[in-house]
Amino acid sequence: MTTGSKAPRRLTILGSTGSIGQNTLDVIAQLGGREAFDIAAITGHDNIDLLASQARACGAALAVTANEDRYQALKEALAGTGIAAAAGRNALIEAASIPSDWVMAAIVGTAGLAPTLEAARRGADIALANKECLVSAGDLFVRAVSEGGGRLIPVDSEHSAIFQALEDDQQHAVERIILTASGGPFRTWSREEMANVTAATARAHPNWSMGLKISIGSASMFNKALEMIEAKHLFNVGPEQIEVVVHPQSVVHSMVGYTDGSVLAQLGCPDMRTAIGYALTYPSRTKLNVDRLDFAKLARLDFEAPDEVRFPALRLARTALERGGLQGAVMNAAEEIAFQAFVDERIGFLEMADIAEAVMDEMIGIGSAETMDAVFAADDEARRYATVFVKQREKAA
Ligand code: NAD
Ligand code: MG
Repeated sequence: MTTGSKAPRRLTILGSTGSIGQNTLDVIAQLGGREAFDIAAITGHDNIDLLASQARACGAALAVTANEDRYQALKEALAGTGIAAAAGRNALIEAASIPSDWVMAAIVGTAGLAPTLEAARRGADIALANKECLVSAGDLFVRAVSEGGGRLIPVDSEHSAIFQALEDDQQHAVERIILTASGGPFRTWSREEMANVTAATARAHPNWSMGLKISIGSASMFNKALEMIEAKHLFNVGPEQIEVVVHPQSVVHSMVGYTDGSVLAQLGCPDMRTAIGYALTYPSRTKLNVDRLDFAKLARLDFEAPDEVRFPALRLARTALERGGLQGAVMNAAEEIAFQAFVDERIGFLEMADIAEAVMDEMIGIGSAETMDAVFAADDEARRYATVFVKQREKAA
């Protein structure tokens, strides 16, 4: 018996309304849209109009808002479409549990951990943009994906680059991985100049257009700190094998150095759709309508050493890597609280790292991550400490 046309691949997009989520839907549309893909569920938070219009455009079976207060608004926006609506944290986990072949994990922050874990456990291929899953839950998360039987495909541009530059069966010959960092908008600024910046200035990234959290994280280099820990878990390398180099043009997305002295890099324009497309079609490559590099126009690529004094987040990542265990979860949770306090203008830009460091030191004896409950408990405790430290600084100011 001959089969007719192939069944469309079934996809889920966690965080469809964000920067990565919107780029993912663009890639899906470029690669055939509803003809080629069946969208099981999409999720968002506050932007109900966008979530509903995305659901209609891509033909999702279910749309979920994480914000329970917006359930009625979502239901009304989808009335008569046949698209189911749901709301709340449990609804996110249920959406992730619906069978699909491939899940884009693009919720920002630790909020993405529980739903992504659910998708991993049921064996979906996980296209991982949410680096916080790996920073917090590390090996537990990697194990959940491999026990579920799915593949873990990095979407973060640096990790996608490394994934592409890693040669099959050559892990033994990997000497180092080199993460590139743009340096963000304050690459050349002194600490004194950075002390009084606002979130509006800090979020203006020179090369990439991204969500608020990662944009501020690029300015403080906290994003690179998370990426160092993400790299350890994805590529099973020791802390001493992870290097960071500042590369202001964001063209070399990262590199792998081998024991024979060779360095393999992946290059491209700063556009997340290349990494998203690769994660969707891996191990094949596809045709995407993105800008092409023009080397003559580029003329030069610059590299410089990172400055851990001006950007202490990099030093904190090394500390978390050396201490191991749940220190990644602690660093990440403390920084999420400090980031929100900075955005709310309750603390200054430089105080974000101070608070993360103080919480990491406070919880130095935290131990290793044996269970997911231990990860969530460490996350909670770190948030409590960070909240106290934010309040102390507010009072002192
Ligand atoms: P974003 O802020 O633009 O979007 C975040 C998404 O998460 C939105 O859909 C939002 O509705 C949802 N969300 C927010 N709070 C939530 C909550 N409490 N519960 C459930 N959902 C919630 O973020 P982004 O820039 O698209 O980044 C998403 C993830 O991808 C982050 O982990 C980020 O570090 C990573 N990443 C982003 C980029 C990029 O270019 N934007 C690059 C590499 C990695
Ligand atoms: Mg990145």
